[in-house]
Amino acid sequence: MNLKSYLDHHIFHAISEVADKRGLETYVIGGYVRDLILHRPSKDIDVVTVGSGIELAQEVAKKFGPKVKVNVFKSYGTAMIRIRENEVEFVGARKESYQRHSRNPIVEDGTLEDDQKRRDFTINALALSLNKETFGELVDPFGGLEDMEDQRIITPLEPGITFSDDPLRMMRAIRFATQLNFDIEEHTLQAIADNASRIEIVSGERIMDEMNKIILSPKPSVGFKLLESTGLLALIFPELQEMKGREVRNGIGHKDNFFHTLAVLDNICAHTDNLWLRWSAILHDIGKPKTKRFHPKFGWTFHAHNHVGSKMVPAIFKHLKLPLNDKMKYVQKMVFLHMRPIILSEEIVTDSAVRRLLFDAGDDVDELMTLCEADITSKNPEKVTKYLKNFTIVREKLKELEERDAIRNFQPPVSGELIMECFQLKPSKEIGMIKVAIKDAILDGEIRNNFEEAFEFMKKKGIELGLTFTEPKEHTN
Ligand code: ATP
Repeated sequence: MNLKSYLDHHIFHAISEVADKRGLETYVIGGYVRDLILHRPSKDIDVVTVGSGIELAQEVAKKFGPKVKVNVFKSYGTAMIRIRENEVEFVGARKESYQRHSRNPIVEDGTLEDDQKRRDFTINALALSLNKETFGELVDPFGGLEDMEDQRIITPLEPGITFSDDPLRMMRAIRFATQLNFDIEEHTLQAIADNASRIEIVSGERIMDEMNKIILSPKPSVGFKLLESTGLLALIFPELQEMKGREVRNGIGHKDNFFHTLAVLDNICAHTDNLWLRWSAILHDIGKPKTKRFHPKFGWTFHAHNHVGSKMVPAIFKHLKLPLNDKMKYVQKMVFLHMRPIILSEEIVTDSAVRRLLFDAGDDVDELMTLCEADITSKNPEKVTKYLKNFTIVREKLKELEERDAIRNFQPPVSGELIMECFQLKPSKEIGMIKVAIKDAILDGEIRNNFEEAFEFMKKKGIELGLTFTEPKEHTN
């Protein structure tokens, strides 16, 4: 098969000329070739040569003029050049052998086939020749092209050895299955289950890179179901594993929170690419196993699971090597607030409840609503219609009140200093009481969110507290 037409980028012709001049057998290989054939856009080009990748990179860079710099990674034997938006990495073909305690192999020079053998899946082992005589010819010793047509993830060598050598490949198999919507071949899948415990030699950061790629896929449930069924989930994310299962008592069952969570996650993916909103969907019910109770009268309850769940977030982020910064705070807030719009939509939607929601969620209120809408997984169409209708009312009210009251990023309309001046107060608890009373009056709709109304209200409140009011020097905030 000749895929010459795929290699029209001038960079490939430049590499071809240099390779021929130096008599080096040279190929473009791996993920770039896979993505070319699948028509997926890809910017990272891997070039392998039977010889020195670093020298080839230096020669190729010269062709592009002095502005193109070569980044050499001597210890890896690789070199990288950037041509416009493409990163091209050059490496010499190599042979690898592994030791049991580490995923870092012993490396020696090798042939193209040795290099293809060390690749994780047949679809990632395809090479396209860059030498002039054979330009564009596909070298596919393991039938990767056919596996691509059949949408199959399969290892080129014995899968047990492949996964035991580098257990990160188990995560990669599941990640590719999710991104590409491919099936993992039966023996390959069994080998993941058999080698799951080997994941312990992989760093948390690498595991999380793959997990985030699963989460950013169009339908992440595919990956999480595979992680669960192979036993990996229990090892890398036990809190999510805990959610699986459905208990029945006195004939009353609760829903399986693992599958519910995955349904919510898939739902939200249709509405957002925001990784952290997707993480909020994964964690929204994480407090349920800890709060689960059975009451003979009321059945199953998960009282305050949002509160317990949001408190679990920092430990989970730490253990999963996720960032312990404002992203984490955002997820905590989403988990904590995820019931609020639902409770709202079950009752008559009052202005005051909507203002409070806006106050607590701030700028993230729209994303919170998206999470809540995704959380509707009921099979009862009447309930779904009712909830969605009420959410529409909540959204309309949010817009209306936002325009009128500007609660989203609430700033107290009367400052603490002004309160002190008007009532001749030193820093004291009365100031806090008056500030809270003003905020509550605004949120409850008693007064509007502006200086004049808040000032009058402050005056009244202070007098109620037995304080003496004196007109301030300047009557502005
Ligand atoms: P993506 O670009 O979507 O992250 P990719 O596999 O194409 O996926 P890289 O991770 O850069 O991108 O890997 C490039 C190539 O290197 C792969 O296609 C594969 O041939 C090989 N490779 C990468 N990681 C491994 C691994 N752990 N074991 C074996 N081969 C690997």
